[in-house]
Amino acid sequence: MKRRIILLGPPGSGKGTVATRLLQEFGLNHISSGHLLRLEVEKGSAIGQRARLFLEKGELVPDRTVLQLMGQWLKSAPVNDGFVLDGFPRTLSQAKPLDQWLAMRNAPIQAVILYDCVLKLILDRITGRWSCPKCGRVYHIYSAPPKVAGMCDDCSIALTQRADDSEAVVRKRFEIDRRHAKPLADYYEQQGKLTVVDAALSPDERFAKTVAALN
Ligand code: AMP
Repeated sequence: MKRRIILLGPPGSGKGTVATRLLQEFGLNHISSGHLLRLEVEKGSAIGQRARLFLEKGELVPDRTVLQLMGQWLKSAPVNDGFVLDGFPRTLSQAKPLDQWLAMRNAPIQAVILYDCVLKLILDRITGRWSCPKCGRVYHIYSAPPKVAGMCDDCSIALTQRADDSEAVVRKRFEIDRRHAKPLADYYEQQGKLTVVDAALSPDERFAKTVAALN
């Protein structure tokens, strides 16, 4: 099983759900840049203040700010235990420094999975998406419901819906992702690390294809 993994794909393509299962079944750390950014916004930190408006509008937070945050994470991350990066990198100018950081630690990315999908699927999915404000775990009312309706299985607190999951913002986030997806996919394809998985598959099938690509 390859242990340092990047999941790519637009919001709602199922990256978060796959990452949660990789954590549960293989103990791989799940790092979501979106979740880390939302925590910074809640804390009101300097990074959070710089990121807040971009998150609200569904636009990409500038590379410099994201790299500062992820660079901090990477400094102390136990990279040899393995990890799943979800939402980072989003641009080529994030992917290249990530490769350099990991090269310095002799821990290169081993596999990149791209969840490919169309806008309609994303809109259908995101309207049913709820997440835990404490641990960031993502649920879906149909495909990944919590054991008790409206409550996080792990933290037993009420789930919330993200402000940037409105239809208008989701459309915009999808378009932005489209713009950056091709160069990013080409970059990892050239490294021989890319596998494309159809995001329209069921969660079980999507997970199975992902695990097959990692073995
Ligand atoms: P996500 O939870 O991955 O859908 O991210 C939510 C929001 O956080 C995005 O719409 C961006 O505003 C911001 N964001 C997360 N990751 C990144 C990244 N790698 N680069 C720039 N902005 C990001």
